[in-house]
Amino acid sequence: MNRRNACRAIAAMLAAPLVAHARQTQTLPAPTSPFKPADYITIPLRLHMLKSDAFKDLDCRLTKADLHRILGKVNTIWRQAGVHWGLESILRETAANEDRLRETRDESGVIALRSYRLIRPEASRKFDGLHVYYLHKFPVNGVYYGDHTALVQDAARLRPVPGGIDEPIPRVTAHELGHALGLPHRQDHTNLLASGTTGTSLNAEEVAKARSYALKMPGALAFETLRAQLRSVERDGNADQSKHLRRWVTEIEAVSAAPNS
Ligand SMILES: [Zn+2]
Repeated sequence: MNRRNACRAIAAMLAAPLVAHARQTQTLPAPTSPFKPADYITIPLRLHMLKSDAFKDLDCRLTKADLHRILGKVNTIWRQAGVHWGLESILRETAANEDRLRETRDESGVIALRSYRLIRPEASRKFDGLHVYYLHKFPVNGVYYGDHTALVQDAARLRPVPGGIDEPIPRVTAHELGHALGLPHRQDHTNLLASGTTGTSLNAEEVAKARSYALKMPGALAFETLRAQLRSVERDGNADQSKHLRRWVTEIEAVSAAPNS
């Protein structure tokens, strides 16, 4: 079974919205943004670094600094659609149900992709936004489960294509977030929704579709709403919330000031 068929077979076995893709790497010219700050849609993002003493494959090897760098690249990719992923928090958490997964592996030698959903810690799931969980290694580079949840392995490898990104994890993350915004695979090698390549581009149809989905995401904020919320929480003296919102506004406004936009 070649990689594409393997991907299809896995997807067919699992729930309909679940999209998995398989597997390295060049430098990405930062996409220009055709969008003004006022057109940006911000979606809150919670990033989870999973840890496990007993099951090393679950034990994410990334650092917080890695995740900040990764998210910066994800947002550079998504500039082309005027979508900004607003970091709410980075959590380092012990993977849930690691014993159940280990037992399954020891008994049958394989763990179904859907079973990896079990490793999401319960306490941090409630959140008005999207979750990305990072673990060390599992059967695919990344998966979007269809419920505002993506899993990405830090051991991700991609096939380099001309103009592709210089690092796999941001591309895998941005790809899975593309699935979250309603985008299916498109096997054109140099684009973001191609399977297993370093491509990052979106066509006009994908941009329109992703923006339409983005507005329906939990916690999504059009730029004016983001600014209005910032004014409101500042009036209320909510320092925690205003810190996030102000950062997101600043990040979006910085893009329009960047020389490439
Ligand atoms: Zn995919």
